[in-house]
Amino acid sequence: MKRISQVLLLSFVVLNLASCEFIVERTIKNALKNQQEQEKILSDDKMHVVLVGTGGPLSNTARITTSTAVIAGGEFILVDVGPGVVRNLNLQGLPIGRITGLFLTHFHSDHISDLGELAFMSWAQGRARKLDVYGPEGVAQVVEGYNLAYRLDSSYRTAHHGEDVMPSSAADSVAKTITVNNPDKAELFFDHNGLKASVFMVDHSPVKPAVGYRFEYKGNVVVITGDTKKTASLAGHAKNADLLLADALDAKIINTFSKIAKENNRPRLSKQMADITGYHMTPVQAAEIAQEAGVKKLVLVHVVPPILNFVVKRKYMKGVNDVFDGDIELGEDGMTFNLDPKK
Ligand SMILES: [Zn+2]
Ligand SMILES: [Zn+2]
Repeated sequence: MKRISQVLLLSFVVLNLASCEFIVERTIKNALKNQQEQEKILSDDKMHVVLVGTGGPLSNTARITTSTAVIAGGEFILVDVGPGVVRNLNLQGLPIGRITGLFLTHFHSDHISDLGELAFMSWAQGRARKLDVYGPEGVAQVVEGYNLAYRLDSSYRTAHHGEDVMPSSAADSVAKTITVNNPDKAELFFDHNGLKASVFMVDHSPVKPAVGYRFEYKGNVVVITGDTKKTASLAGHAKNADLLLADALDAKIINTFSKIAKENNRPRLSKQMADITGYHMTPVQAAEIAQEAGVKKLVLVHVVPPILNFVVKRKYMKGVNDVFDGDIELGEDGMTFNLDPKK
């Protein structure tokens, strides 16, 4: 009897291990199949906009820092690459190895600090030439720093996997400095496979220069403000956009934060909070820009403070519908807009 139970137990263990192996293999196969499926986004005729991240620099369990993927005509452009962006790109299943360019709006850490990881991961996943990094004056310094910091790692990878798999010629990023000659005019600087991008100046003083981007593809227009206060020229740059992704910080909540920090003997934090209200738009100001520009849909990103509950959300969105007639969305990480071609 004892022997029979031992045989039964052994059979159970063997069968169980075999089924585990089967499940592991099936999981790997599905993951690889999913990757192939995700690459299809690069070959249809839509303009895809993915909110990779929608938060500000403060730690937040619901949002990483603001970053947006614009995918159209086989081009895969990422705008900004702060902490957590590469993790979200992978979790959101975007074909990171097929990235064709990174656009930076300015060089605050919450917009650049995953650059090294992006260059590495896109290279590891198939990018076959250097990563083009566009940005205003200063981009060369940032790119040079990340190339330098990651050069030892890339040399190990090539030595380990070989030049055919990890070609050293493609490891680095290359800076493409964009100069804006007229601060009131958007300037076309990118035109590939039907996707056009123009750059325009914004006001994020003392951060200078700081820019926003306007994308056009098959009749659709997508505008990303970058970090900025409300300026006189912003509505012109966002004119008739189908989608406007606007920086929006709730100054009232942040001022309350500053006041409470001061009362609780945290003068440093209090001052930092008070300072940041001066170089971002509020949600209502973003809605005013959208109204003036005749935008179809406004999406609020760079959401500050970290929105944690229903009450804070309501406070943050208060008043936006009073000034803007179009659709408004509070951006969430992973939110995707697929725009059908108009021509
Ligand atoms: Zn900033
Ligand atoms: Zn920022």
